[in-house]
Amino acid sequence: MELSKKALSISPSSTLAIDAKAKKMKADGIDIIGFGAGEPDFDTPEHIKAAAIKAINDGFTKYTPASGTLELKQAICNKFKKDNGLDYKPANIVISNGAKHSLVNAFQAILNPGDEVIIPAPFWVSYPEMVKIADGVPVILNSTEEEGFKFSVDKLEKAITAKTKAIVINSPSNPTGMIYTEDELRAIADLAVSKEIFIVSDEIYEKLIYDGYKHISIASFNDKIKDLTIIVNGVSKSYSMTGWRIGYTASNEKIATIMGNVQSHATSNPNSIAQKAAQAGLEGPEDVMNMMVAEFAKRRDYMVERINSIDGISCINPNGAFYVMMNISKIIGKEFAGVKINGSDDFANVLLEKANVALVPGSGFGTDIHVRLSYATSLENIKEGLNRIENFLNK
Ligand SMILES: *Cc1c(COP(=O)(O)O)cnc(C)c1O
Repeated sequence: MELSKKALSISPSSTLAIDAKAKKMKADGIDIIGFGAGEPDFDTPEHIKAAAIKAINDGFTKYTPASGTLELKQAICNKFKKDNGLDYKPANIVISNGAKHSLVNAFQAILNPGDEVIIPAPFWVSYPEMVKIADGVPVILNSTEEEGFKFSVDKLEKAITAKTKAIVINSPSNPTGMIYTEDELRAIADLAVSKEIFIVSDEIYEKLIYDGYKHISIASFNDKIKDLTIIVNGVSKSYSMTGWRIGYTASNEKIATIMGNVQSHATSNPNSIAQKAAQAGLEGPEDVMNMMVAEFAKRRDYMVERINSIDGISCINPNGAFYVMMNISKIIGKEFAGVKINGSDDFANVLLEKANVALVPGSGFGTDIHVRLSYATSLENIKEGLNRIENFLNK
């Protein structure tokens, strides 16, 4: 029997293959240093856990409204006002099972078959597949390391066609850690308004930002761009709550209603207990978060300096998130440990097998001359992992 052509066209997560191999080696007792983590390595703060336990004891364990509780929506509106200077009402907010789910809802709500979505590369692996799931066509807009992994508005304008429906902005970015400045965002916003194109703004790393930079939401410039923007955010990265699965969107009411309708049939409401926990995160003290950010900044400094001190590899300084894109172009074409390195997959494989270091090949992010290292792991691990990489490259 023939299966869905659309479902068959969806690639599995490219990070999975190497991750599975690393896990198997670990299970076999091999000491692996992992740079693959896509989540903070800190525990969820105590006051957040306490709120979840209270929710269970209070019997807050039943269905909630499909798009989330009014209380949490209000807390999210307060957050947008405080952090981003944005005025939203609960009717603008949809709470989902993680920001990933929010993104899927967003593309479902705005795309018709054949509509194009511009995705800047290097990109987070899921965007193109999410667009395909919603019958859209991903259009990849490349940017180089020399450009700071950012596209110019000129380039963006050239990529726009009559079918362009939306542009994805992810600042700070996974995998590059780069952030767009206010001027850059304003130029993108002006173009989107003049061409009437939606912006899907993934701001999940908003709180993980260093070097005195401040996060700016593209929706905050004027009412026109606000109306065209679907902001996606969540508690996974900011509050170290990846397993709790709470993400949310802010958009115009019409889009929010459609997303809520779609979600009501797909998953009903996000977990009631996790909604209480997320609310405690948003309304609670920020000291734990500030500690986390300070620690990430320290690790990033070490990693960037160390990578640039090793022959054959280099990286630019990322200002946000917890990833470094390591340039391996000088290694490509060469032979290491008897294996010719033809691209990022080869490099990741050889490094895992011969040096017992796991990292993520850039191929899945749209760049084959880079690999992604996460610094959501202890400074000790980072030192040891980079020692191993250095020894391997010196051999
Ligand atoms: C982690 C991540 C998400 C999704 O996070 P959830 O755990 O689903 O809330 C979304 N976008 C990017 C770029 C991410 O790295």
